Amino acid sequence: MKSFVYQNLPMRVVFGDGAISRLPEEVQRLGARSALVLCTEHQRASAERVTTLLGERAAGIYDRAQMHVPIETAQEAREMARRLGADVCVAIGGGSTIGLGKAIALTSELPIVAIPTTFAGSEMTPIYGITENRLKKTGRDARVLPQSVIYDPALTSTLPPQIAATSGINAIAHAVEALYSPDANPITTLMAEESIRTLSQSLPRLVQHRDDTEAASTALYGAWLAGACLGAVGMALHHKLCHTLGGTFNLPHAEMHTVVLPHSIAYNRAAAPEAMERISRALGGADPAQGIYDLAANLGTPLSLREIGMPEDGLETAAQLATENPYYNPQPIDRASILELLTHAYQGKRPSSR
Ligand code: NAD
Repeated sequence: MKSFVYQNLPMRVVFGDGAISRLPEEVQRLGARSALVLCTEHQRASAERVTTLLGERAAGIYDRAQMHVPIETAQEAREMARRLGADVCVAIGGGSTIGLGKAIALTSELPIVAIPTTFAGSEMTPIYGITENRLKKTGRDARVLPQSVIYDPALTSTLPPQIAATSGINAIAHAVEALYSPDANPITTLMAEESIRTLSQSLPRLVQHRDDTEAASTALYGAWLAGACLGAVGMALHHKLCHTLGGTFNLPHAEMHTVVLPHSIAYNRAAAPEAMERISRALGGADPAQGIYDLAANLGTPLSLREIGMPEDGLETAAQLATENPYYNPQPIDRASILELLTHAYQGKRPSSR
């Protein structure tokens, strides 16, 4: 076995149906007395449930979390936390709301208790992103890692099927790239393969039967593993492409990951045989690129960049931006090949077999 470094991230996970009821205990464990609850406008009702659970430990609700964490939002929420004397943030929602908690923690050091309600995985990583003057800056900082994460599968039952499906494939993307990461190690590899297996098996059940609690639980477990992979090892071409497309063309995050992933896998297929074997095994023997494409098709998600708002005349720019700075990828990167990949993703073509 090759030598490796594995660093465990210091966080606590409480998992299970009804786990949200253990929130007061988690807040108390941190020695906190006053919590600012973060959510989007859309999830205000969930945040109110949280304040009821917290009782006198609830300081207030900030309900203006937004995609990509605009710096003005982070400043406003941080100011509200200061004014109310909050000593902890409880973030209930997807990657956008947890991202807001991270932006607050970055400068105030307020600890975060995260209650994820999608499969995006941000709660498991020390990665933050803040948007200023339309530019999203990302970084890694141990201060933004939530101290406690409560996974309650029941909370995902209100996710519209399309968000459940694309957010689940967004999680699979973290696991796929962890398998061919330069710092992949036996632990992350184990988590990544299990994540792809559990998500690919549970998402179709979850999308068809929104009340299938076992499927919700399995999917959330898979998303946790995927998030842990994202937090532990570096990503490659697929995440770079999505970062570029999201930042430049403001495409919806999870849908974009879903559309691009089969094509990123096809691009790396010949250069990362061991990773591909694991992906294929996790998908029950399918070709890795076609297997993910077919999973998305079965889930009824968008399959082309065209459908999700990508302008065709932006493909050249995207290929240029995605190849400007060198970064690790199993298959060497050049502009013409990336343009071809993006064109396939734009058209929504099913990747050819190996
Ligand atoms: P999101 O947080 O933007 O949520 C999408 C919408 O779904 C929102 O309106 C939200 O209120 C709603 N929603 C969430 N959960 C719901 C539920 N259970 N029921 C009903 N509605 C619900 O989407 P996301 O895909 O979770 O997160 C995407 C963002 O997270 C991106 O900005 C991405 O960059 C970031 N992200 C960061 C990391 C990281 O490690 N830093 C990892 C993954 C994603």
